[in-house]
Amino acid sequence: CGIVGYVGSQSAWPIVLEALQRLEYRGYDSAGIAVLDRFGQLRLRKTVGKVDGLTQGDETDYPDGTVGLGHTRWATHGPPTDANAHPLTECHRQIAVVHNGIVENYLELKQGLQQQGHTFSSETDTEVIAHLIEEGMREGLRFPEAFRQMGRRLEGSQAIAAVCQRDPDKVCALRVGHAGGIVVAHRDGQGIVGSDLPAVLPILRQRPGPVAYLEAGEMAEVTRLGVRVFDLEGNSIFKEMRTVFPQD
Ligand code: GLU
Repeated sequence: CGIVGYVGSQSAWPIVLEALQRLEYRGYDSAGIAVLDRFGQLRLRKTVGKVDGLTQGDETDYPDGTVGLGHTRWATHGPPTDANAHPLTECHRQIAVVHNGIVENYLELKQGLQQQGHTFSSETDTEVIAHLIEEGMREGLRFPEAFRQMGRRLEGSQAIAAVCQRDPDKVCALRVGHAGGIVVAHRDGQGIVGSDLPAVLPILRQRPGPVAYLEAGEMAEVTRLGVRVFDLEGNSIFKEMRTVFPQD
């Protein structure tokens, strides 16, 4: 029900956790965070129930790394369990995905992927997204390109963010259809994407900062250097960044 992605100079975990807490008002049944640690490995933590369950009682014990994803889930496909909580990964656990909404054609996509040898470890519609990116990269595409091609295959309304161990300094985000929103903000070598404005405030705290809203059919490539936005054909799109003055 809420998604976050961060790439920057700070430790990702506390920023992603704060963003998830700011998204709690939307309601959820489970939550998860993935961090690309300093060895370039994806580290995942998930919990059924409250976001606070992710800290396991010790707020200083978390995977250290400057790229991360977070999710609060409102289950639509598969019950609220750890296995079905996002971030979800593909066969080799190199790509992590968070997703809001429904992949309407997931059964058809899943069957096709299974015929290509993909094995699934959750009951969600979301997991096809990770496998589609993996399949694109197996065919030789770079991560952002595989992410874009994945976006062209999905039916339904949704918002997605993903990271990849093989392209570790980047968060890709996408909005398909009109249901899920995506806000992108960037400042001082830090980029963040989130479902709504409160989710991006952790990097805009106390100081006004630039944000942009993705339209349906737009994807963003977010790095420490900035944000690039494309349509699903790969044409670059100029986005006007609006200045937001945080109230808190
Ligand atoms: N359809 C996905 C699932 O059931 C995403 C649900 C959501 O928007 O939180 O896992």
